[in-house]
Amino acid sequence: MTHASHPRTPLVLRDALLAQRAELLARMAYERGGVVGRAQVAAEHYDAAASDNAQLRTERETQYAMNEHETAELADIERALEHMNQGDYGHCIDCEINIPMARLLATPTALRCVACQSVHESQQPHF
Ligand SMILES: [Zn+2]
Repeated sequence: MTHASHPRTPLVLRDALLAQRAELLARMAYERGGVVGRAQVAAEHYDAAASDNAQLRTERETQYAMNEHETAELADIERALEHMNQGDYGHCIDCEINIPMARLLATPTALRCVACQSVHESQQPHF
């Protein structure tokens, strides 16, 4: 057992991030398998009822949006873990105050304090 991690980073947060990443990767792998299954079902359905493509198109769009969301979530997790390795995890990347532990426990991927996060989100386009 090593104690190399920064004293400001409770191991519970690192564990939470690692668990979140593992769960996300498993879900992404499962969904990729699921796409093939659904596409086959949809193709069979298409043969049977020739006209309706809308359902399939909607499913594809939903799948695409979900993958983008998960890719972004995974990037957030990786970034948080990187900050932990560098020892600067838990500081707001914009104003550098210490992010409250309650916020980190609720959202281990948080890189900003609540104030900076809401500013950041107001500058992001909404999907
Ligand atoms: Zn801040």
